[in-house]
Amino acid sequence: MPVRVKIDQSRCVVAHFCLFYAPAVFVTGDGGKPTVAREYAESPDVGVVPDELYNQVREAELHCPSKAIKVYR
Ligand code: SF4
Repeated sequence: MPVRVKIDQSRCVVAHFCLFYAPAVFVTGDGGKPTVAREYAESPDVGVVPDELYNQVREAELHCPSKAIKVYR
């Protein structure tokens, strides 16, 4: 089942834990804030990733200090 991810840029404090925990999904965008990697992106802030990346994006969600990442199944 595909997994949806969303970054709330207004909450992001550029801690970059998301890039550490899910480097295949989150990459550095303009201004240093994370964006969804092109291959998974529906828009810079929203993406659909394969199920095998669920654990990575879930770790990013859990470790984001400002709760800026949401993961949906
Ligand atoms: S972990 Fe959260 S606060 Fe840090 S860069 Fe990623 S989205 Fe922003």
